[in-house]
Amino acid sequence: MPPQLPPPLPPLREVIAAHGLQASKALGQNFLLDEQLLDRIAAIPGSLRGERVFEVGPGPGGLTRALLRAGAQVTAVERDRRCLPALAELADAFPGQLRVIEGDALRIDPQAECGGPAHIVANLPYNVGTALLIGWLESDVWPPWWKSATLMFQAEVADRIVARPDTDDFGRLAVLAQWRCSARVAMKVHRSAFTPPPKVMSAVVHLLPDDAPAGVDVKLLGRLTAAAFGQRRKMLRQSLKAVPGAVHALAALGIDESRRAETLSVDDFVGLARVLGESAL
Ligand code: SAM
Repeated sequence: MPPQLPPPLPPLREVIAAHGLQASKALGQNFLLDEQLLDRIAAIPGSLRGERVFEVGPGPGGLTRALLRAGAQVTAVERDRRCLPALAELADAFPGQLRVIEGDALRIDPQAECGGPAHIVANLPYNVGTALLIGWLESDVWPPWWKSATLMFQAEVADRIVARPDTDDFGRLAVLAQWRCSARVAMKVHRSAFTPPPKVMSAVVHLLPDDAPAGVDVKLLGRLTAAAFGQRRKMLRQSLKAVPGAVHALAALGIDESRRAETLSVDDFVGLARVLGESAL
């Protein structure tokens, strides 16, 4: 059978005007209207035909329509009820492919809502984007419920997620993202691509869950990185005092305690968490 043509849809500007969707700053609303750009973002995870996708903040549905065109089964959570009629029209245009939940993405259980492993794809609201990412990364169960995550962030946050050691951007977020994920910046997006344009540039980060290193407790790793980077200019012997046993763990691994947090590799932090976890048994 030849591939089905996507249904004709009104331009996103018309959808916004027809439904009175003036962007709300409080809800982090900066809409993407360029359908080619949206198709390129939807292509980052690879083929989505028949795949489950979880989208946070569909808004007027620009990214959502690109995901639907790609053949995905989309579960989307949107806090702004003004967007629901526009999203209902989209659900009608792609029968059986879109389910919209009205609610706060920080409060729902995406795994239960998606009903199976899903790709996360979202142009995230800036005010909750990092909190959502941390929640998805701190999953006790690994591999997690999500197969990949393709997420738009402010460029400065994207830089911190993919940062390498010995750089100013390297910190808790880099360790948390990279200790059991591959993380890369897949696309930079100019501020002028958004309506209204935000003050800063944006970037799409692509995360793929890797195997988890054995014997490491994510909470312990979190405590270590919080202490180490909470006082990042201090030597580790000072900054890690707050975590009992951590300075001994440095010695056990042959890591010089006069070093600073940002000079350690992700593997060094993983090793520290493992040694600390073993000594607590
Ligand atoms: N996906 C659309 C696009 O790309 O044009 C809109 C992206 S806009 C940056 C962020 C969207 O997230 C808005 O529609 C906003 O209403 C929604 N939002 C904000 N906070 C939310 C939350 N806590 N839970 C769910 N959606 C939220």
